[in-house]
Amino acid sequence: MQKYFLSEIFFSINGEGLQIGKPMAFIRLAGCNLRCKWCDTKGSWIQKDQATLEDIVKEVSKYNTEWVCITGGEPLLQDIEPLIKKLQYKISLETNGTIYNDVIKKIDFVSVDIKTPSSGMKNDFKVLQKILGVMSYGQLKAVISDKNDYLFVKKSLNDIDLNFPLILQPNFFRLSYKELFSLYIEDPIDHDLRILMQIHKIGDLK
Ligand code: SF4
Repeated sequence: MQKYFLSEIFFSINGEGLQIGKPMAFIRLAGCNLRCKWCDTKGSWIQKDQATLEDIVKEVSKYNTEWVCITGGEPLLQDIEPLIKKLQYKISLETNGTIYNDVIKKIDFVSVDIKTPSSGMKNDFKVLQKILGVMSYGQLKAVISDKNDYLFVKKSLNDIDLNFPLILQPNFFRLSYKELFSLYIEDPIDHDLRILMQIHKIGDLK
């Protein structure tokens, strides 16, 4: 019987990116291969409790939802293909951009991160490009803590073939929305982008 390391299942709004404000069910899988300095879901790093695929599907079915977001941690550490096959919903995936799996091709909306220097983590641009190359739809998302992060993302776009919108969001604890907008006005990034807040933090939601 297929089992997953699970952190939690809950219903909330999607607080960031192109799906901002959309109510949906979230499946937070446990375990992450990164340790970002400003991670706000450190509780999901440890793989402890397991749930069966059937239990997860049953729990999600309690919610009246069109979309289910599979998040983490890093969901692609586990084989999510059986899970998305069973879930009869539109599927959104949040991934940190360091693991490739063909299942990405089958997902309706993929949010992939580019890690900025302030996170203390590095990107694997080959993997990132492979993910961006097979996604049917989605976004590239960056958390900006300072000017160095902003310039890093701007420069990185020269090395990435990006056919989806770029989402910039300020690190809630280190940069104001106004400061991020000023960075853009001073030195604009020439790509389809959105500069957005994480509204689940403003609303004190999960
Ligand atoms: S990739 Fe996401 S879950 Fe993992 S450490 Fe970074 S912010 Fe946290």
